[in-house]
Amino acid sequence: TGNEVKRKFAVLGSRSVGKSTMIVRYMDNVFVDSYYPTIEATFTKSIKFKGRTYNCDIIDTAGQDEYSILNSKHAIGIHGYVLVYSIASRASFDMIQTVYDKILNYTGTEHIPCVVVGSKSDLHVQRQVSEEEGKELAKQLKSAWVETSARHDVNVAKVFELMLGETERDTTEGGPE
Ligand code: GDP
Repeated sequence: TGNEVKRKFAVLGSRSVGKSTMIVRYMDNVFVDSYYPTIEATFTKSIKFKGRTYNCDIIDTAGQDEYSILNSKHAIGIHGYVLVYSIASRASFDMIQTVYDKILNYTGTEHIPCVVVGSKSDLHVQRQVSEEEGKELAKQLKSAWVETSARHDVNVAKVFELMLGETERDTTEGGPE
């Protein structure tokens, strides 16, 4: 379809951080509580960004732990990664660095476009990860960062704008297409 640019993004993170809920909120603009356990699924959406239309495949992954979160098929043909932790789970935050290192291992590159997402920002009382810690980690990973709430529809679309910002910046710098 003419000047549409194709992009493929994978959404990774510990179980129940809200990956599926975030994607469903983005695709259909609804909040679905206790969504069924994820079966890996690909969603497609046209996203307008800086005057261009990007035809995006968004892959909802179904990994459970550090061994299964990323498998080799998530390393092929993916332009960028959305790395999700819950602000109410320290363990899910600690997992981000592990997953990032695994991605670099698989892709054999020194950098890959990522957006680090702190989900469930509405869970103020249960917060275990501060905004500062989130920002600091993203800085170390040379990634974008944002906190979201799929429940209250806060910053969900922003995740994918940041993702395109990261991938298109790398492209203009002469990185891989
Ligand atoms: P996944 O395993 O990462 O795909 O996680 P799910 O999307 O299945 O979500 C796990 C649980 O977190 C579900 O009970 C969701 O309703 C809940 N959840 C998801 N997003 C939010 C959010 O923004 N705020 C709150 N409070 N709960 C959420």
